[in-house]
Amino acid sequence: MHIVLISTPIGFLGSGKGGGVELTLNYLVSGLLSLGHTVEVVAPQNSTLLRSNEKAKLHFVEGKDQISWQHQKFNAPVIIPDNSVLAGMLEKGLDIAKQADVMLNMSYDWLPIWMTLNVEIPIAHIISMGSESSVISNLISKVHAKHPYNFAFHSKIQADDYPYIKKPIIIGNGFKLDDYTFQDSVKGPLAWVGRVAPEKGLEDAVYVANEIGEKLKVWGVIEDEIYASSIEQSFPKGTIDWRGFISTNELQKELGKCRVLLNTPKWNEAYGNVVVEALACGVPVVAYKRGGPSEIIQHGETGYLVDPDDKKNMLSYVKIIEKIKRYRCREWVEKNASTDIFANKVVSWLNKVMHENKLRK
Ligand code: UDP
Repeated sequence: MHIVLISTPIGFLGSGKGGGVELTLNYLVSGLLSLGHTVEVVAPQNSTLLRSNEKAKLHFVEGKDQISWQHQKFNAPVIIPDNSVLAGMLEKGLDIAKQADVMLNMSYDWLPIWMTLNVEIPIAHIISMGSESSVISNLISKVHAKHPYNFAFHSKIQADDYPYIKKPIIIGNGFKLDDYTFQDSVKGPLAWVGRVAPEKGLEDAVYVANEIGEKLKVWGVIEDEIYASSIEQSFPKGTIDWRGFISTNELQKELGKCRVLLNTPKWNEAYGNVVVEALACGVPVVAYKRGGPSEIIQHGETGYLVDPDDKKNMLSYVKIIEKIKRYRCREWVEKNASTDIFANKVVSWLNKVMHENKLRK
């Protein structure tokens, strides 16, 4: 299969601004290459792929980012800036796709989804968020009615946000196990990883750390400075140990030293890459039972699930985290979320999309 992959129009790959999509894209490319497929990636200028993905051709496009949908009102109209990087990526992608079998879109935005109705090449969409925009949800509904196979989701609970899709295609996610080292650090510090933005609920994790009387190690891009400083000011100075945004390799080394990851989503988290990354290092996770993490974490086996926003309950589970066997966390990732498992699911889905497209011709 010859696949043209369209990256996120928010930040370049490696910037962290695109969130989990950046890692998902890289691991998907790894999985597809190892199955022998040809992959070309169209991405914003300055993007980098994993060194092991050098067989994938990377095409750069310059232009202005889209505004992320989770930071706009649900009923906001679509905004496409002058010199749009998204439009540029699609233009280039369509040109390359003349020689390819399928275009695989990883941007959560209106334009590529609308194009599905209007171009010959099949366009398959990995939907990376819950329903964050009425205009996009309405468009998915319209396109889905004509092209029922062209959308895939990371988790069932994410797909529930699109109730008009009765039998959603769920592909989970995949991680390169070799990139994560198991560590048996039962006495390590408390960790939190993610974009620092209101939908990630950092304040609840800081509450837990403060109650226990420990520091909370925080890794990730500070997307919302005002939000970050308001949390900082609500707790005793030094409760948050800001570690910034670091590479996957550095992150897994540090994360593996921690005794637990706190995951506090305030939105319907599509998947929650950081949850699986922690598990891959042997770190159990205590998370709100909301979105993808509630399908990933095995309560009492690989961590604990807590009623959404019940930070006191989160605190009580953090206190008994040593009951979780760390090797079971790693084992779950090996059995359920490797790049091979993920890429195989994506390939069989893309085959359906291509087959349906042929039948229409
Ligand atoms: N991440 C990283 N370095 C950091 C902190 C986070 O590379 O210091 C990455 C992490 O590996 C994950 C992503 O940021 O892939 C966050 O993705 P997630 O799915 O958890 O949430 P999203 O940002 O997509 O909502």
